[in-house]
Amino acid sequence: MATSHNRLPSKTLTPLTLQDIWIAKKRIASFVKTTPLLYSERLSRESETTAYLKLESLQETGSFKLRGAANKILSLSEEERQKGVTTFSTGNHGLAVAYVARQLGVKAHICISNRVPFNKVRKLQEMGAVVQRVGQNQDDAESYCYNLRDEEGMTVIKPFDDPDIIAGQGTIALELLDELPDIDTCVIPLSGGGLLSGVALGLKAANPNIQVIGVSMVRAAVMYESIRANRPVVIPEETTLADSLLGGIGPDNRYTFSMVKDYVDDIVLLSEEEIARGMSFLFRHHQIGVEGAAATAVSVLLHKKTRKIGLRTAAIVSGCNVDADRLLEIISTHKDDEDDG
Ligand SMILES: *Cc1c(COP(=O)(O)O)cnc(C)c1O
Repeated sequence: MATSHNRLPSKTLTPLTLQDIWIAKKRIASFVKTTPLLYSERLSRESETTAYLKLESLQETGSFKLRGAANKILSLSEEERQKGVTTFSTGNHGLAVAYVARQLGVKAHICISNRVPFNKVRKLQEMGAVVQRVGQNQDDAESYCYNLRDEEGMTVIKPFDDPDIIAGQGTIALELLDELPDIDTCVIPLSGGGLLSGVALGLKAANPNIQVIGVSMVRAAVMYESIRANRPVVIPEETTLADSLLGGIGPDNRYTFSMVKDYVDDIVLLSEEEIARGMSFLFRHHQIGVEGAAATAVSVLLHKKTRKIGLRTAAIVSGCNVDADRLLEIISTHKDDEDDG
């Protein structure tokens, strides 16, 4: 983290290159939107950089996860597709897998614990997935996925630690470079690190001087603590507004741990209050409703949480799957200083 500015992406131990991202872009073109890049006058004023919002919240399933899931499932062989896919995510990754599978006529089994609330189950079912409820926690659900693999030959679609997932998420970098060729900073929500690894690989291949800032919440910042400890660590989950950033990085992490470690120039941790303000800001000034995880990059700029911000900055607004009542409550309890008058 935060070492030389001139390091080349090829230093990382992964087999991934910029070419893999271009291949992904071509492969997923018919599934994935080129999302808008919105200039934010107000955020630019608050943050002393020219600030842009990359609106992945407008992706069909409500998050960028569609990119990686599409790239992974489209890369499976005909035989693998026939046997179906399975995953253990309750959130945006599960939705993306269910969506792509349905589009392709591939069977999808999403394994979740009995604790997951029914509204999430219904959303997955509406996407056409078979929802299998097993055990009391995500570990039980995950091991059931591997049973399905061993017994029925289904392919487990991992949420982040997979080269095809990383390359899929990396297609965001190509869109950023296309619309904003002189981008010098990108702020990226960080959990398992698939998003950051892919986008950083793409950006730094174009220009190693582009600064990549990761952002997690103070509550259970697993990647941040793992980098500090120089090995994947396990931290108990806490309730957070940025629930899409919860979850471990896996004890056997093969790709994203080393990629994030190599690429990231700074990692910022946010309080719940700061995350809430980012959500409120996006709604009040841009009429955009997002989930906590997706507001984190904006919060970093809003609160000037890092000094590594250059002249032209893109904040990735990663998803919009949020409970409407919760969002309204946050907006009504977080007003700008200016509005307070
Ligand atoms: C999954 C997710 C992230 C984090 O992505 P990783 O690849 O796990 O780091 C950020 N925001 C949203 C909305 C997500 O769904």
